[in-house]
Amino acid sequence: MTVSEAIVDLDAFAANVTHLRETVAPAELMVVLKANAYGHGVVEVGLAAVRAGSTRLGTLDIDSALALRSVGIGQAVSIMAWQYPPEQSFEQAIAAGVDLGVSRFSELAGMADGAAAAGRPARLHLKIDTGLYRNGVTAAEWPEFVTAALELEQRGLAEVYGVWTHIAEASDDEDTLALRRFLDAVEVAEKLGARFVMRHLAASSAGLRRADVRLDMVRMGGHCWGIPSFDGVTPAEIGLTPVMTLRSRVTALRTGADGARLAVIPLGYADGIPAGAAGTVDVAIGGTRHRVVEVGADATTVRLNGDAAWGDDVVLFGPGTAGEQTVREWGDLVGTLGDEIVTRITTRVPRRYIGYGTGDADAG
Ligand SMILES: *Cc1c(COP(=O)(O)O)cnc(C)c1O
Repeated sequence: MTVSEAIVDLDAFAANVTHLRETVAPAELMVVLKANAYGHGVVEVGLAAVRAGSTRLGTLDIDSALALRSVGIGQAVSIMAWQYPPEQSFEQAIAAGVDLGVSRFSELAGMADGAAAAGRPARLHLKIDTGLYRNGVTAAEWPEFVTAALELEQRGLAEVYGVWTHIAEASDDEDTLALRRFLDAVEVAEKLGARFVMRHLAASSAGLRRADVRLDMVRMGGHCWGIPSFDGVTPAEIGLTPVMTLRSRVTALRTGADGARLAVIPLGYADGIPAGAAGTVDVAIGGTRHRVVEVGADATTVRLNGDAAWGDDVVLFGPGTAGEQTVREWGDLVGTLGDEIVTRITTRVPRRYIGYGTGDADAG
């Protein structure tokens, strides 16, 4: 067996998704699988989401959306992409029935070409900017943009299906303002003749805390992985279980200059261990926590706080059931988001899937 691995618990993931879906209902839940499902594996986790009853997935890029279609996720499940390189061709995505977020006039033109080539309309979600300035059409351009999309609909090249924006989720006041701007934009579009099926703006944080921002759908990444997106709660307190466990073994023991006993774990920053873990986070060996003192390229050193032997199992982060910290705690200690930590665990670390459908019942 491999010395280090990232165990992905598909049962925990499915339970999170079910819990979140029930919580946001009657709004729908989009499971956001961008960045290779935040490092969990887009295909494996996408299939698990569908098995858990999800009918809406989001991937950010078209290639991942097509990868999900190619493993048999059919048209009953909507898969949405929304970020494209400038030279993106849309024909394949439209042919595969991938929903497309559209944020600029040039994309709209490309989608019209793609729909003509694919011989079927592109299903569009029009994006308005409501203050985040990430992307999206400005309020000034919005009427012209909506009109252009509706023209494509009349020509049979598009279905104007959704309207959306991205909100900061940093403060309730800003989100409330963004919601108001969004609803104003929806009204403007409806006066121009748009009939939206899906209006969506919230992600994990606001989507869980505020019913008023859910509208027709909430798009969640972080919470699906069991990583709380807002302060002051543990995963369990909001009904979630961390999905990824990062595990390794003790591969060397030595004595530090100050006489401290040290253990070496063969995972380093080249594997995605944050350099900021040194002096801040703990790992668990035999249920006891030991502080990380150094993160090198290929190895991490911990100061032993009790006994450990060569070959002992080390849990770096996980659900917390073996004395380890959660990835959310790592994020807090390192000064980043837990989402970022799991996403950055590189493919040097093999993923092992456990739970439903994998023939592997537990992490043991
Ligand atoms: C990443 C992303 C989300 C999910 O964000 P979380 O905070 O991880 O839930 C939702 N919507 C869009 C457009 C995104 O890019």
